[in-house]
Amino acid sequence: MMNTQAVRFRSLRFELKTGRLGSIFIQGGLLVFTLCDLVQPDNLAEAYQILSDKRNNTILGGCAFLKMGSKRIGTAIDLTNLQLDYIKEQEGFIEIGAMTSLRELETHKLFREYFNGVLPKSVQNIIGVQFRNGVTVGASVYSKYGFSDLITALLALDTEIELYKSGRMPLVDFLKQPKEKDIFVRLWIKKNNRQAAYLSLRKSASDYAVLNVAVSRLGDQWTVVVGARPSVAAIAISASAALAQGTLGVQEIEDAAERASEELAFGTNMRGTADYRKALCRVLVKRGIVEVLQCKSL
Ligand SMILES: Cc1cc2nc3c(=O)[nH]c(=O)nc-3n(C[C@H](O)[C@H](O)[C@H](O)COP(=O)(O)OP(=O)(O)OC[C@H]3O[C@@H](n4cnc5c(N)ncnc54)[C@H](O)[C@@H]3O)c2cc1C
Repeated sequence: MMNTQAVRFRSLRFELKTGRLGSIFIQGGLLVFTLCDLVQPDNLAEAYQILSDKRNNTILGGCAFLKMGSKRIGTAIDLTNLQLDYIKEQEGFIEIGAMTSLRELETHKLFREYFNGVLPKSVQNIIGVQFRNGVTVGASVYSKYGFSDLITALLALDTEIELYKSGRMPLVDFLKQPKEKDIFVRLWIKKNNRQAAYLSLRKSASDYAVLNVAVSRLGDQWTVVVGARPSVAAIAISASAALAQGTLGVQEIEDAAERASEELAFGTNMRGTADYRKALCRVLVKRGIVEVLQCKSL
């Protein structure tokens, strides 16, 4: 069976042939981005060295987002040779390599078994199957996109991220750090009985979410996450703590959803106003909590 990364790279080479001087990417007649050089390092140390050499040297994921801009890249670093395209079950954790595609995440049996399928659910509305076959987990998380569906779901699980230079840390800490040049290597998700739900509202099937929400529970410990606010996903700490306080009736659930909408900040963009997102937050968080309460234990 053909490897998705190999397919992606062949298509890069084809585009290189069609571009001027063999280094300009053309899509639909428009200049998209420029590569002056392209390397495929054999190890992470070499990849990081090349990345640090010049400001405009850049790691390539599936290139879907890079193609939307007109960045002039010095040396493009393709990680295909580093065998980072995998999902592995380890003692206590599930490990996901940076070059794993969103489609692999969506279809892998482990993620259908664990966490009530929250990860497949979070990515299944992103454009289409062909698109999800090409885009990578590494780029999706490392880029900290505000609209990200995947980050919202991962934040509701016990997720750690491993970077080449900065090492391993909880995803929540990584999201708070200022951006600096590094290489996303892999994700670690603690294998436990966490029950989870993912909800989003989109104006049309493949558009960015107006708001997305993930709710999870491990015993008495709850995590409520709200993303696409439109800033990057954050944990509603007070709402999560309130849910741990005991019996959850209709009033307690509504109070927690109200708390989440009060403690988080919402903004306005072309998809919705801050007030609309705040109102939506109350509804989606409430539905998320109810869904988790209905989940069966593993
Ligand atoms: C039209 C469009 C619609 C989209 N809609 C949604 C949506 O609704 N929901 C959603 O969640 N996402 C959406 N996305 C984002 C998409 O899911 C991917 O997250 C995004 O395309 C980046 O993945 P990529 O593999 O294409 O990265 P690339 O375009 O290759 O790279 C993006 C950035 O990540 C960096 N990078 C790549 N890999 C690494 C690494 N290992 N370490 C460090 N840096 C790295 C690159 O240098 C670059 O700066 C959309 C993207 C597009 C283009």
